[in-house]
Amino acid sequence: MSLLVFILGIVIGSFLNVCIYRIPRGESVAYPPSHCYNCNKNLKWYDLFPIVSYIFLKGKCRYCKVKISIQYPIIELFTGIIYLLIYIHYGLTLNMFKYIILASFFIVIGIIDLKTTDIYDITILNPAVIGIIFLIYEYYIGLSISGNIIGILLMLFIIGGLILITKGMAIGDLEMYLLVPLYMGLKNSILVLLLSIIIGGIFGIVLILIKKKTRKDYIPFGPYITIATLIAMLYGENIINWYLNLII
Ligand SMILES: [Zn+2]
Repeated sequence: MSLLVFILGIVIGSFLNVCIYRIPRGESVAYPPSHCYNCNKNLKWYDLFPIVSYIFLKGKCRYCKVKISIQYPIIELFTGIIYLLIYIHYGLTLNMFKYIILASFFIVIGIIDLKTTDIYDITILNPAVIGIIFLIYEYYIGLSISGNIIGILLMLFIIGGLILITKGMAIGDLEMYLLVPLYMGLKNSILVLLLSIIIGGIFGIVLILIKKKTRKDYIPFGPYITIATLIAMLYGENIINWYLNLII
């Protein structure tokens, strides 16, 4: 089962690559089928095995020999590992399905934001609709959804306020922060908020120190929200317990 989930993650990771490439270019993620971005030749089925094809073709297009970015197999492998870890933590549960869906969308949003400093509506609206359906289902089967609702209101208040006062964050960041309590409830969303600010702060300082950015540059926050969310998904419980033990 673990192997199956890992392979599912790698295959979905391959699709996430398509999304990451096409969404900022305004292209459909479903059509046309996968082709070489240099010579436009359609890829054959045997060129589409994630990771395996990349290694077999030594990272080059079969037809025109243009170099294929190492980003493709890395994202495939990364998605596979994240899926596997989520499965190990949650087993075959409702939470597992919710979290692999949120993780997949956040990987796409985080990397597109890193590359373009933009967050696209389609990558927010789809997980929002899916998350609301999950929430209605949870309410229907008698689970408490008050933590999710309070979390959403809290994020709206805190991040909305930050945007109004400092302009240090954008609407896209707020939308990501709203998705977190929708999927993960109140406690985890507070953890994601704190972790993302800590991680963003550390990266921001490092980028300024190595002179990649100046204090005036816009630093996209989406990647940090993605990293914080993945950490909270996998180790949220441990971090919260550790923190509570520390202060009590
Ligand atoms: Zn080619």
